[in-house]
Amino acid sequence: MKLTRWVILICTFLLFIMMLVLLTGCNATLSPEDEARINRRFAFMHQLAQLPRPPPEIIYTRDPGFEISGLTTCSNWTITINYYVAASRPDFVIEKLIPHEYAHLVSCFYRGGTSGKDGNAHDDYWKQWVVRLDGDPTYI
Ligand SMILES: [Zn+2]
Repeated sequence: MKLTRWVILICTFLLFIMMLVLLTGCNATLSPEDEARINRRFAFMHQLAQLPRPPPEIIYTRDPGFEISGLTTCSNWTITINYYVAASRPDFVIEKLIPHEYAHLVSCFYRGGTSGKDGNAHDDYWKQWVVRLDGDPTYI
């Protein structure tokens, strides 16, 4: 293969990687202002929920294998947030993801550690908590 073809091939590959990084938001950085807004939202959730426990540990993960926006682990009392989602879409995290995840935590707590009837973690009880936490129960 001629040198120009190699150059074109390598440049195309690099362009592809750059597009992938841009499209997935993997280059985004969570600003201190957005992190403070997210922390305030979590504090508000805890205030609304009135759980007789300390707030959960909030974990930001940059693990590329973590392909979802957030995950509540009731048994560890943690809420894991995808760092890149928080950095690139902080309003989504504040308005939809945090009430969604916090409702999992609260409903799990009041159900004695189980996520939902017949394994449905997004049942009516969870939806009621999303509404009480000022979230969107249609975001599942
Ligand atoms: Zn969920």
